[in-house]
Amino acid sequence: MTQRRSTSLGPGRILGIIGHPVAHSASPAMHNAAFAAQGMHAMYGAFDVPPSQLEKAIAGIRTLGLLGVNVTIPHKEAVMAYLDDVAPTARQVGAVNTIINRGGRLIGYNTDGWGFLLSLEERGIRLAGRSAVVLGAGGAARAVALHLGMAGVARLTIINRSRSRAEFLAADLARARTPVRADVAEPGSGEALAALAEAGLVVNCTPLGMDPDRESTPLEDVSILPGGCVVYDTIYRPLETRLLREARRRGLMTINGLAMLVHQGACAWEYWFGRRGPVDVMRTAAMAALEEQS
Ligand code: NAP
Repeated sequence: MTQRRSTSLGPGRILGIIGHPVAHSASPAMHNAAFAAQGMHAMYGAFDVPPSQLEKAIAGIRTLGLLGVNVTIPHKEAVMAYLDDVAPTARQVGAVNTIINRGGRLIGYNTDGWGFLLSLEERGIRLAGRSAVVLGAGGAARAVALHLGMAGVARLTIINRSRSRAEFLAADLARARTPVRADVAEPGSGEALAALAEAGLVVNCTPLGMDPDRESTPLEDVSILPGGCVVYDTIYRPLETRLLREARRRGLMTINGLAMLVHQGACAWEYWFGRRGPVDVMRTAAMAALEEQS
């Protein structure tokens, strides 16, 4: 008699993403394609959890024996209160995007900044000696700025609408003892224009340009950027924002947020499975999921 393979997934085989809303997340397609490509008997779902239910949902990871989850907007900061431990980098960023369930102990990590650095590395971009400008000072900006600081950029300027939030981030960078001191500027100010005029890398970490508001941009005139500047938009809906379109037309190298999305997901595998996820498979699946929605 041939033995049938069980279709039930045992404990430690189920993962997912917790967010609100989360229906349009590309993460399930990305991770499930990677499991299939590697012949893994695992499943990744999307769990829509309103803020009022977050504590119960996190307790459910233990109760149901999930292997781990990703966490997205709006829970990345709030979730930290319900975990047993938070890794130092995630604590410095102030947000968790990956949780692993180690025998009932929930540990939080942040792979956004790590994924961001890997997405630069795969394009052959060296950070040492470059002047970097981060637009925004929210969750994504915190991960990006901290990792740029740790990676040894020559100069770092945070340009944000509310100066106090940028100053808060700059102070956290100083506390984290990153090798570079961050400057702070308000959009359109003399300091901001001076930093942009000598930038080797500009990273948009604001939602300006994101669907459905495609005509917004965090930088009205890209002609201020020097010739060798790399323009990075953390947005991946649409894949080419107005900022990237204008930078490309000016002949600058551009990178969209898909690369960061894919690499942060592949890095989460390091915690769940002890090895990096298959980046090419994940990129193809995430791209297909995003194109299906657009
Ligand atoms: P957040 O914490 O809400 O921060 C948003 C930032 O944008 C703040 O600094 C805010 O300035 C600024 N901002 C918002 N609306 C603005 C406006 N109308 N004009 C000027 N500045 C404005 O959001 P987040 O979690 O950092 O996400 C930001 C972006 O990063 C999103 O587009 C998201 O898609 C992207 N992201 C991408 C990835 C990826 O894997 N590719 C991962 C994470 C995030 P104030 O401080 O003045 O409010």
